[in-house]
Amino acid sequence: MRGDGVSSVFHRTAQPVEAVAAQGCWVVDAGGNRYLDAAGGAIVCGVGHGRPEIAAALADQAIALDYVHAATFTTPALETYADRLSAHLPMEEPRVFPVSGGSEATETAIKLALAYHAARGEPHRTRLVGRRASYHGNTLAALDLSGRASLRSPYEALLGRFSHLPASTESDDPSWHARTLEEALVEFGDVAAFVGEPIGGAASAGAVPPDGYWEAITDVCRRHGVLVVADEVMTGFGRTGRWFAADHFGLRPDILTAGKGAASGYWPLGLCVASDEVAATVGEGRFVHGFTYSHHPIGAAVAGAVLTIIEEEHLVERSAEAGDRLRRRLVGAGFEGLVGAGFEGLSGRGLLIGLEVGDSAEVTAACRRNGLLVYPATRSAILLGPPLTIGDDEIVELVSRLSLAAG
Ligand code: PLP
Repeated sequence: MRGDGVSSVFHRTAQPVEAVAAQGCWVVDAGGNRYLDAAGGAIVCGVGHGRPEIAAALADQAIALDYVHAATFTTPALETYADRLSAHLPMEEPRVFPVSGGSEATETAIKLALAYHAARGEPHRTRLVGRRASYHGNTLAALDLSGRASLRSPYEALLGRFSHLPASTESDDPSWHARTLEEALVEFGDVAAFVGEPIGGAASAGAVPPDGYWEAITDVCRRHGVLVVADEVMTGFGRTGRWFAADHFGLRPDILTAGKGAASGYWPLGLCVASDEVAATVGEGRFVHGFTYSHHPIGAAVAGAVLTIIEEEHLVERSAEAGDRLRRRLVGAGFEGLVGAGFEGLSGRGLLIGLEVGDSAEVTAACRRNGLLVYPATRSAILLGPPLTIGDDEIVELVSRLSLAAG
């Protein structure tokens, strides 16, 4: 705090609450108030707060080998992690490029798509196609790919290189989506990749696409030599009741991005994963890209500890079961007619649930006053995404606090 009483931190929000501790599904502030973390921060914390085994993995790696530059070195922590993760990814022989967050993962995917086409002799393919009601990150290329008007508008002068097609919820007819995409690909003639969240996140409050959507999209992309990029930054690592949301649809992307649940908030980690074909075509050492902190050994050690917890505690299955229980309770408490497709009218899958609440900012603030943390998604909808470890009693508590704030 400065002498004039103003914080030396340039905060993201005008009057942030000071958090001092977190354990399991609970966050404690400086005044001793306890908040049930029904949003896992920003749908980040999958394995619960305060896990000593992750802290131990982080400390052990920092002591053994803190940092080396990835332009020269690889590390046992990273090699082991990538091997273990490969078994869960919806891709054959995937190749993992770790970075420091979801936006960096998107940037990496964008460049990788261009590098792939350049290596195949099609350097004119430089356009990325995203969708309306989507979010892929806040760095400039990732933002350009995102269809979220409120985040784009202050920076429109720097955007405009990419194109946006309809969101998956704009029609129930997959063949309409396929036709719309095919017409756009033919018209543009320079498309490198189609990028989409397999199940929507922040910009669509967990929108689930209609049956056959991803098959139709993938078929058009393959016929036109366009890469399919699945953004699993929010939906990966068990959040939707499968390891990756792509698994719900048999989707096998050429490139996949992840973040959030990969390290569960214990380390700023993002992942860009290439299919073997994409990686081999570009070639190791020929991808002109990298960050000081990419391929970080501590990030890999932390993510390895998170992976162990997800596997040993069967958190993917638990996400599916707890998600169904939470949905049933929400419906029982009168939360019906909610966003998009999906179980009993609630959007999302597993422990990613979108709720139409009226004014999401107001409801989020009311929830916080009632000791409940939710994630404001669209202007009118919130997202619930608690740690996958949430217990039955905590589900009851969550619905009770939500009903007080928004019922
Ligand atoms: N992609 C999706 C689907 C996201 O939900 C987010 C963040 O919310 C991002 C990308 C960007 O990730 P980050 O905020 O870690 O940069």
